[in-house]
Formats: sequence, structure tokens, C-alpha cells
Amino acid sequence: MSNAKSLEQLEQKQDFIRRHIGPSPAQVSDMLAALGVSSVEELIGQTVPSSIRLEQGLQIGESRTEVETLSYLKSVASKNKVFKSYIGQGYHPTHVPNVILRNVLENPGWYTAYTPYQPEIAQGRLESLLNFQTMTMDITGLDLASASLLDESTAAAEAMALAKRVSKAKKANLFFIAEDVHTQTIDVVTTRAEQFGFEVVVGPASEAANHEIFGALFQYPTTSGEVVDITDIIAQVQSKKAIACVAADIMSLMLLKAPGKLGADVVLGSAQRFGVPMGYGGPHAAFFATRDAYKRSLPGRIIGVSKDRLGNDALRMAMQTREQHIRREKANSNICTAQVLLANMAAFYAVYHGPQGLKTIAERINRFASILATGLKAKGVALKHDTWFDTITVVADDADKDAVVARAVANEVNFAINHAGEYSIALNETTTRGDIAELFDIILGEGHGLDVAALDSEVAANGISGIPASLVRDDEVLTHDNFNSYHSETEMLRYIKRLENKDLALNHSMISLGSCTMKLNATAEMIPVTWPEFAELHPFCPLEQAQGYQVMMTELHDWLVNITGYDAVSLQPNSGAQGEYAGLIAIRKYHESRGEGHRNVCLIPSSAHGTNPASAQMASMKVVVVGCDSDGNIDLDDLRAKAEDVSENLSCIMVTYPSTHGVYEEAIREVCDIVHQHGGQVYMDGANMNAQVGVTSPGSIGSDVSHLNLHKTFCIPHGGGGPGVGPIGVKSHLAPFMPNHSVIKVAGTNEGNGAVSAAPYGSAAILPISWAYIAMMGSEGLKQATEMAIVNANYLTEQLSKHYPVLYRGRNDRVAHECIIDLRPLKEASGITEMDVAKRLMDYGFHAPTMSFPVAGTLMIEPTESESKVEIDRFIEAMISIRAEIAKVENGEWSVENNPLVFAPHTQADVLGNEWDRAYDRFYAAFPVASVAKDKFWPTVTRIDDVYGDRNLICSCPAVETYAE
Ligand SMILES: *Cc1c(COP(=O)(O)O)cnc(C)c1O
Repeated sequence: MSNAKSLEQLEQKQDFIRRHIGPSPAQVSDMLAALGVSSVEELIGQTVPSSIRLEQGLQIGESRTEVETLSYLKSVASKNKVFKSYIGQGYHPTHVPNVILRNVLENPGWYTAYTPYQPEIAQGRLESLLNFQTMTMDITGLDLASASLLDESTAAAEAMALAKRVSKAKKANLFFIAEDVHTQTIDVVTTRAEQFGFEVVVGPASEAANHEIFGALFQYPTTSGEVVDITDIIAQVQSKKAIACVAADIMSLMLLKAPGKLGADVVLGSAQRFGVPMGYGGPHAAFFATRDAYKRSLPGRIIGVSKDRLGNDALRMAMQTREQHIRREKANSNICTAQVLLANMAAFYAVYHGPQGLKTIAERINRFASILATGLKAKGVALKHDTWFDTITVVADDADKDAVVARAVANEVNFAINHAGEYSIALNETTTRGDIAELFDIILGEGHGLDVAALDSEVAANGISGIPASLVRDDEVLTHDNFNSYHSETEMLRYIKRLENKDLALNHSMISLGSCTMKLNATAEMIPVTWPEFAELHPFCPLEQAQGYQVMMTELHDWLVNITGYDAVSLQPNSGAQGEYAGLIAIRKYHESRGEGHRNVCLIPSSAHGTNPASAQMASMKVVVVGCDSDGNIDLDDLRAKAEDVSENLSCIMVTYPSTHGVYEEAIREVCDIVHQHGGQVYMDGANMNAQVGVTSPGSIGSDVSHLNLHKTFCIPHGGGGPGVGPIGVKSHLAPFMPNHSVIKVAGTNEGNGAVSAAPYGSAAILPISWAYIAMMGSEGLKQATEMAIVNANYLTEQLSKHYPVLYRGRNDRVAHECIIDLRPLKEASGITEMDVAKRLMDYGFHAPTMSFPVAGTLMIEPTESESKVEIDRFIEAMISIRAEIAKVENGEWSVENNPLVFAPHTQADVLGNEWDRAYDRFYAAFPVASVAKDKFWPTVTRIDDVYGDRNLICSCPAVETYAE
């Protein structure tokens, strides 16, 4: 046989597949040998029930190279037309400071980090999030802020839910929305209210208190740009014991009196225009602030200050028991993944510009608006309002409006035109003098004779600002040192780097988080995100300007349909939990359409992720828990009995597959059948799609609807706790009930359907990541990824099972793509807890696996296909070494109080300190195995005291002196 390579081999068509998949062919052989099987196929045969195996391969096409993929995607992107956007309505062009663009948004040290559940190795992003909270509190004038929500509109819906929880107007069931709130927010809040069974009235702000309300929402400035003093209206709302919520524009608040100072109980909004690209709708961080009294009702995560073991200030997620694993149907909200990366960008924007810089930017925007308004008024153009911050609304009849819009489009300029009888122009940070001159030309036609410089003098001389005197901001904001120290690029670069260095991300070592699939986020997948053709589109721009997005999203849609075995997909939900919510709404509407609106019971296995019951509660469903048997499978007898019990009222089951216990339940088809027999729908939580793609699919198994976590299986990075995308796939009978949008209609779904996200396509800007992943893997690569995820997980399980009990296994003792090791017997014998093991892993340079979910006292480990055998072996080595340490505690060589596990993690200050009274030596503390020495990662704080932080909740930056102490 000739050794000559084929042209195909020389072209390396499948190059990306072997880059994405960690183990080399030789390593795969070794792992298979360790598992006692002779081929991958044999292992898959032992693992995946044959009844659910796909007969047909995926129809994605062949794997494409990185070069082909990027050049094709560039040609698609170039079909997007980047017009100058004055659309506003919550989205504005912004200059992303380049130091932040390159060192945060484009930096895997920031974007590949996980949610900071292990705070000792996450102090960098926790500090940045604390900056975000401090900034929010300062700017809104309230006492307490959270570390980001998904977008402004969902934050408003969360505000309504909070209002219902805390309002003393217990009998009221009505939420009032001022008619000049952004259209998409009215849409999302109304949808949420419908699910909760709240009434909604939309009307003039002044009429809020005419109703029996538990809360009301206002926009400040209004969507058409008016700046109104709502102090009295807020007081009227509160006199009815109702909660006053204000959606505010973050930039305007640099100049306007804080809504908290006007009396608002909740202030929320989008932080997008603080240096985060519009990205055709997202992802962006929403900010959310409220009164200290409502802290137990706050949705989402809060970062708090606590102490570490040595008494140093250390940051952590406060009140973590509020997190999704614990509160379940009692949760304040179903939010899990938030928008950490984007919150960090906005916080860094504020750090970089500082209070003076931000104020200057806001003043410049406002000055241009004043010049525009003054010029237009001088020419007799009718303006809707006498006040403004950045948005000027022109009153115009249809003919006028059409003519102006036509001239605008000819000049590649977009105005907001979705309100009858008017159009609006929202100015922004990127607006220049030349732009204002162009705007005059567009609105007035050539030869208007207006001069920007002359108008500027007039505005300055007469002190024209559009801001009522009573609303001029006069307090200091952002006085903390963090906002006043890093204004040179050198200082900023080092600050970003200093924080990055404190955090362990995927660019350091494997993060084996069961259920969260922390796989490779390839650089080629990330590159398109910051192309201007994708980054700089407004979500409400005319569809013909977004053809590139439409092409890319249609292809992605079709691929996801093929992968899931469903008939249609909605890309709107911007997190997994939000997908659950959208899917449950679809189920509910489907039942209603058949005259079965009374079906309201949701069966949920006891092992379910906490977002499942939380989402069911948001859809006003009654949760009935189904038990699991001793093997971790759904107890079929219990399921039959419960389904029988509620039969007439059964809405659906929410089931995760493979189960959260990490096994392919053999009876999954039966589970679907039982539920269908009682007229219920099957919601399959798709977070574990990494064990399904190309091998089986929810649609083919018999499920009706699923969300996917594109930020797990489909390579969107976790961002340190967001962004995410949680599209839902549905069978055709549910397709008409998927989310629509009130500004940009979504094809294929019913007219009246509400939106679940602010933007019609949710976090569109990060969809190219999943698009590129699927394109570069192709049908063959995607299937291989799943198979290798199973090989890696089984190899790891096999090796660890010699040292730790493995809690659940499926047929042939195999696991799916993850496994749970049980630390409870060891705790019983030694006193060492799963927490000690998690913290000790940091000393070995690893992030802990998922802790105590779905079973308390366990670790759930998911290596993913992207980790090589070398890295997996390093992890195994660490776990074996830790097991030996536990043995020394068991046999009394080390006491329970004095051993490297309970003192973990070890910082440099701890190990190098003058005192050392430990039962183990200093070197061993930090370098327990030889491989650690090559690449030591030092936690920057010792073990953090959770209880202290919750008892003394501080969620803004502590004064610098306390750091020094
Ligand atoms: C991650 C996850 C979710 C929630 O997804 P988010 O994007 O964090 O909202 C739901 N179910 C399971 C099983 C998950 O692992």
C-alpha cells in the first residue's frame, strides 16, 4: 500500500474536530483499554439505551475549517447594514473602550470563567461585580443592588414580582404601567403578569394611583424622551401601600436626580450604553436596585463582603442559599445564569471614565440634544416635549414622517418610528457635531441655514439643557477609590490584569462542573462576536438591514431543529431558565387553545435543577414532586400514581435527560408515554444535551419541548456567570405558542403572544459562537463530541471509583457524560466534608466540580470532550491524593482540626507567614503533587466565612481603609 496521503488528508478538512476534542487517538485507545472495551462504539452501545439511539445521522453537513467558517461568516455578516442608530428605546451606540474590548470582552481569562460559586478563586470578578453594584447604588440613589439581571424588560418584570411580594396592599392584584414605558418592557411585563394572574393597566403615569394597585412602573426619562418629575406620582403610589418601580436610563442619571431620591422603591435599567455593544439586542446587563428592607426578596445574585479565615475582607455571593439549588418553588425568581461578563464591562467602563468622565460624556450627549432641539424649534418643527436628556421626539403627520424617514434611510440613518404621529431621535456617546448637521439636513432638507456652532453658543449662553431645574443632579456619585484611580490606560490595563489573575478560568485548568458543561470556547468561535457587522446593530432596525443576522439565525435555527428532533426553535430566551419559562408558557397556551386551560399541575422529579420548579411557579403551575428510586431513576410507580392522581389537571412533566444523576434512564420513553396518556406535555430540560447531540434527541425520544443551553453544550462561554442563550425547541403543535415581540414581529408564532426578552432575538450577538461551533464540527464532529464526552466521563468514573464511591450508574455500570461521587461515607468516617475537598482542590490548581447538587454531600463531575487524557489524569491524581489525605485524618495521623483539607485553600500569606503550627509542612500545603509546581495557581484569600457575610450584609465596595487593615 502506498503511503501517499490523499488530497483530503492534506487539506485537513477535519482539523477543527481534533482541536475541539481533547484526547488524541492514542489517548482514546488507552482510555478504552482501561474501560475494557475495544471501541468507542462498544462503549456507546453499553451506555446509551438502544431504544433511543438515532437511526439517521445529523444533517449538518461536513466539518468546515476555521478559515472557511470565518470567511463564510464574514460574507454573511456583511449583509448586515450598520446604519447610524438614533432609535434609542433602551439601546444606544457606545464606544467600548479598547482596553476593555481587548482585555475583558476578548479575553478568555474573563469570558471562560464559571459562576463564582467558589469565591476563593473568583475574587477578581467578584470585585468587579461589587463595583457594578456600588455603581448601581450610587447612580440610582438606593441602598441595595444586585449583580445583574438579563435585560431591562425582564428586570422590570422582576420588579413587578418583587412588588407583589413586599407590597402591603395585599388585596390588590393590579400592576400599573405608564404608557410611556419602552414598548418591549410593557410587552415582557404584561406577559409575566398574565402568567402570574395579575391584572395590568397601561395608562398615563398620572393615573397610576387611580387603581387598586400593588405596584407601578414608570420610565425615566420616558421612551419618547420627556424628563418628568415623578416625585408626587411616586408618593401617590406609595400612599396606596404600593411599590413604585422606575426603569431609568443609566447615562441620563449622571445628570438627573436619582430616582431613589425621588422616592422610588425599585430602580432598574440597562447598563448597555456603558460600553457594551448593542449587538442586535444583547447580551447586556440589567441593573436592579431597591431598599435594604427588601433584601430577602431581591431577584438574582448579590455579591457581598465577608471575611476569610485570617480575618481579611473577602467577597462572595451573599445569601447563597437563595440560589437555585435551594429555594426551588419558593424562589424569588428563576434567574440562574445572569450577565456577569457584561456587568463587568459596564463596571469597568465606569472605573475607566470615573465620575467626571461619565458626567462629561452625559453632558456632551445632552448638549447635542439641546442643540438639535433648539435648531428644530427655531425652524418651527413641533417637538412633543419641552424637556429632554438625549431624545427628541418630533410630532409629524404621516406625509412628513415618511419624507423624513426616507431621507434618513438614504443617508443610512435610523430613527425610532414605531409610534404613530411622531418619530424620535436618541443621541448617544458616539454623536458628533457633523452628525447634528446631518440630522438638520435630514429633518429640514438642505438649505435650512442652521449652524451647529452658532446654536451651541446660543444653548450655552441661555443655559438650555432640557432638564427641569428640580431634576438636576447635585449629589456626588462614584466617590469610591475604584472609580477614581484607573483613568490612565496603563493603570486600567493593570487593574484589569490584577483582577483577572485572582480568578481561575478555563485558560488555566479544567472546570469539571457537572450539568454546566464547561467545554472549549474556541477562539475562532469568539472572533465574530466583536465584528462591527454583528456588534453594532440596533435590535429594532428594519429587517432589511439585518439580513446577515437573519441568514445566520435561520441556519442556526435549522441546525438546532435537526439536532433536537423538534420542528421549530425560538432563539429569544436569553438563559436556560428563561427558556423553561417560555416553554411552559407555550404548554399553557396550547392547553388553553384546546379548552383545557385548567391543566396546571407540573410533575417534577426530586432530582430536578432548582430552576425547573422556580419556572413552573412563574407559570402559575402547581408543582408535584415525583420520587426517584435507589438507582437515581424516576420512580415509575410513583410517576404513574401521581399522574393518575392529577390526570385531568396534568399540564406537563419537567424531566432532565440524561437525568441530573448522570445516567441514561432506560425508561425515558415510558415516562413520556405515561404523561401523554394523561393528556400532559413533556418538557425535557436540555441542559444535558452534551450527552445527546448526534446520538439521540429529545424530539425522537418523545418529548414536546426543551430549552437548550447554548452556553453549555454549544460553546458560548460562561462569562463568569453569564451571558447565556436558552432557545427552546418544540414539536409543531406548540410552535404557534412560542414568544413573539411587539416591536419586531417574529415569524411562525401567533400574533398575540408576548415576549419573554427585551429583544426579539434575545442575545443575538453571541449566536455566531454556536453557529461557528456547529459549522466547524459538522454532523460527524458533533456526534464524536458526544461520544468523547461519554468516553471521558466513563474513564474518569472508572479511575475515581477505585477511591470514592460512585453514587449512580446506569446499565453495564456506565455513566453518561458526568458522574456523582459520594463523600458522605467519608465525612461520616473522617469529619472531612465535600466543602473541604472542594477547597483543597484549589491548592491543586483545580476548580471544584458541582457541589451538593443534585444530592447533598456529593460532587458531580463532568469532564467534557474537550479535556485531554493528560488533564483528566491530573485531576484524577489530585483526587487520589486528596483521598490519601482524608485517609490520614481517618487513621488519626492528622486531627480533624489540623490537616491541609480544613485549612484549604492556602494563600501565599498563609504558607509564608511567620507562624506555622500545622500538622503538615508548608511546602506540602501548597505543592501537594509535583505537577502543581509547574503552574501554581494561588488563591488570594483563605476560606471565606459564609455566615459572617450573611449576618453583616454589605454589598457595595468597602472603604479602602478596611482593605488596609
Ligand atoms: C444550567 C441548568 C439550567 C439553567 O440554565 P441557566 O442558563 O443557568 O438559566 C437548568 N437546568 C439544568 C439541568 C441546568 O444544568
